[in-house]
Amino acid sequence: MIKTRFAPSPTGNFHMGGLRTAIYNYLYAKKNKGTFLLRIEDTDQERSKKVFEEEILQIFKIFDLNYDEINYQSKNIQKHKEIVDTLLDQNLAYKENDGPYRFKVNREKDYFEYEDLILGKIKIPSENIEDFSIARSDKSPTFILSNLVDDHLDQITHVIRGNDHSINTIKQKLIAESLSFNKIKYAHIPLIHDLNGKKLSKRDNITNVDFYLNEGFLKESIFNFIIKLGNNFNDLEYLNIQDAINNFEISKIVLSPAKFDIQKLEFINQYYLNQLSFQEFKLHINSENLKATENYNLDIIYKDILSRITTTKKINEEISCLINFFHKKQTVDIDNNEKDLIQKIYKAIQDLHNEEDLIEALEKNDLFLKKIGKL
Ligand code: GLU
Repeated sequence: MIKTRFAPSPTGNFHMGGLRTAIYNYLYAKKNKGTFLLRIEDTDQERSKKVFEEEILQIFKIFDLNYDEINYQSKNIQKHKEIVDTLLDQNLAYKENDGPYRFKVNREKDYFEYEDLILGKIKIPSENIEDFSIARSDKSPTFILSNLVDDHLDQITHVIRGNDHSINTIKQKLIAESLSFNKIKYAHIPLIHDLNGKKLSKRDNITNVDFYLNEGFLKESIFNFIIKLGNNFNDLEYLNIQDAINNFEISKIVLSPAKFDIQKLEFINQYYLNQLSFQEFKLHINSENLKATENYNLDIIYKDILSRITTTKKINEEISCLINFFHKKQTVDIDNNEKDLIQKIYKAIQDLHNEEDLIEALEKNDLFLKKIGKL
């Protein structure tokens, strides 16, 4: 049975690249009637924080990523240490003088290779892989070792993760082969770049999932935006989670880095905003505005508000404008072009004899009312 996992380290905010990796692992498991594990890799005691772990769990809930199992890496430390001992006993690893414990790379073969489900054949000259650390001088295991041992113990069959781990995979495969571990298939997803072609950095706030949720992007929009970075899902424009499961294929993930274009996200958000019912729309109005509009028939104009905004945050800005207009008679500033346009419209109305022809007459003169439809 297929089993995938998402293995975040709770050492920083949950970022958009991580969300994409989590979703792809989830989709692959569900598509193949397999299971999906969430493993919190919390062994870096100094950098791991409870708030970051809680953020991961909360975001999993928001995006309906229902895992079948949850594990904490720190619970397995003893097992990781035992594997370090096994490697030492079998002379597959050694301790450097006062330094870390290293895996002894056997360079009898000229190349190390494996078949990546996305990148194809990966072939690295063995002389390029130096002996590498599996535990620090105090014997605490490194990422390469703990992560592999957990995948083995958890009986993971497929690992889908960022391309930045492809060299780790070569090293992990060397350890796995030397201990006859279960064979795991790896798929490395090309990274996400900004519009200038630079790698998106984890440390950059604009890559935090939380940032987009707080800015007023709907979860459906974020989901669609992020899964489409690097995979076109059979050209389907808008997918829910079930559509995504049905149309997900690892082999269709493109090799070039995906471009993170916020305008695209805004465009998708506009689509989903326009699908909101009035009840759903109301959920985004803050309490102050809700109270102030108690006696308004907002249901009549909510579609109009939705058609003009790109995020839910702007719902409140628009409603505040509306309230100001009615209560304080405050109007928005208009520029001279708009003033000219309004004057032309007034003039056309004055010249008109038959009221019923109003809209038609205005439009004939290129004076569409929607041009002044700004609050
Ligand atoms: N904890 C690692 C990370 O967050 C896991 C990488 C992996 O998926 O194996 O980068």
